[in-house]
Amino acid sequence: MKYALITGASRGLGKAVALRLAKDGFAVIINYQSNKEAAEETLKQVQEAGGTGELLPFNVADPKAIEAALESWQAAHPDDYISVLVNNAGIRKDNLMIFMQENEWSNVLDTTLNGFFYITRRLLKDMMTHRNGRVINMASLSGLKGLPGQTNYSAAKAALIGATKALAQEVAARKVTVNAIAPGFIATDMTKELNEDELKKLIPMGRFGKPEEVANLTAFLASDESAYITGQVISINGGLYT
Ligand code: NAP
Repeated sequence: MKYALITGASRGLGKAVALRLAKDGFAVIINYQSNKEAAEETLKQVQEAGGTGELLPFNVADPKAIEAALESWQAAHPDDYISVLVNNAGIRKDNLMIFMQENEWSNVLDTTLNGFFYITRRLLKDMMTHRNGRVINMASLSGLKGLPGQTNYSAAKAALIGATKALAQEVAARKVTVNAIAPGFIATDMTKELNEDELKKLIPMGRFGKPEEVANLTAFLASDESAYITGQVISINGGLYT
């Protein structure tokens, strides 16, 4: 089996990515933080579609929890390694900078940026040894152009993009690719309280994207067909100018 770990796969984009990668033949490792019921539903849908999957809960911002979870996974799969990592887990804590609390700043950075660092560092060695790996980082339009009210989120996603470009050059010779996806507005829990009717007027395609559309792009970046693409940030945003 080829294994793909998707962080934050209980809901939204991560769930759609898990379903799609399972359809493409990967055994999917479904990470989540606290929403066990939703994660079990993702796994059920993977299995109902004929795929293989398992749950692996941990907080991506907690290096000890990551280490413990991945050690237990390795013990259960001594001859296997994870060849695809989708760093998807993320949160928003929007506020104007002058009102932003320290925890609003640090929680967003810890989840997106530190989460990327802890998990990717842990899994890279196996990918490099096997000369096969895909790291796909879920960035954002916000990390490319900056969005007011999101200095924390824009900073975290822009840093993730910088890390993507640097790491891609470090590991390219070992046939490990590292790319980022920058979605615009996609219909998930994260965007459900936004004013969709107003925002979609700004989008040339006149609608929010679907999680499955982001999953299609992720699946391509996870596949053998994308072997010569690395260090890139690919926007998927219905034509929003970035
Ligand atoms: P979502 O619907 O809010 O789902 C977030 C997922 O991340 C959930 O599975 C959640 O797990 C998990 N998660 C959050 N914090 C975690 C942590 N510390 N450790 C482990 N898992 C954690 O979000 P989404 O819209 O699918 O977004 C997915 C990614 O795409 C995020 O990185 C987001 O920034 C990015 N993005 C989204 C959009 C958009 O328009 N939706 C646009 C650009 C970028 P629980 O269920 O256990 O809470």
